[in-house]
Amino acid sequence: MQFDLLKFFRTATKPYQTEFSVDLSGQDFPGYQVPKAVTARFEADLEGDLLRVELSAGAEVVAECARCLAPVQELFTVEKTYTLKERELTQEDNDLPIDLKGVLDLDELVYQELVLQIPTVLLCSPDCLGLCPVCGKKKGAGCTCQESEDSAPADPRLSILRQLLN
Ligand SMILES: [Zn+2]
Ligand SMILES: [Zn+2]
Repeated sequence: MQFDLLKFFRTATKPYQTEFSVDLSGQDFPGYQVPKAVTARFEADLEGDLLRVELSAGAEVVAECARCLAPVQELFTVEKTYTLKERELTQEDNDLPIDLKGVLDLDELVYQELVLQIPTVLLCSPDCLGLCPVCGKKKGAGCTCQESEDSAPADPRLSILRQLLN
């Protein structure tokens, strides 16, 4: 969705708000995907010569746990407020995706903010122990290598320790 900020600056008589959805399934995210449409809400309000813009969006993120590769599904939300003056619309160092005609690309803005918000390392749980290097199963769930009394420690120094303890 596009929003003409310049026109809003010049003609707005009351606040504007809308809800829209963005398809980011084809977008390139670092280490995760956003397969479902993102619902977003946008508000613009002119206070004197200052434009206040609010964006909120919720995205369902799908990834693999960085430690155990289990599927991860997590909802991330973005809530941002920006303030702008008319002359800032055409400035080149603008952080917002605004074209030379003063039109804001809301889809791109949602994408940008999500990339900033979502960590590139996602875990199935904060205390995920990862995969066991011996059996390949998830530690604490399926892997019994550590707990097993009979299994000989791989490191001979550990077996000496074990003898001392006995
Ligand atoms: Zn995990
Ligand atoms: Zn194991």
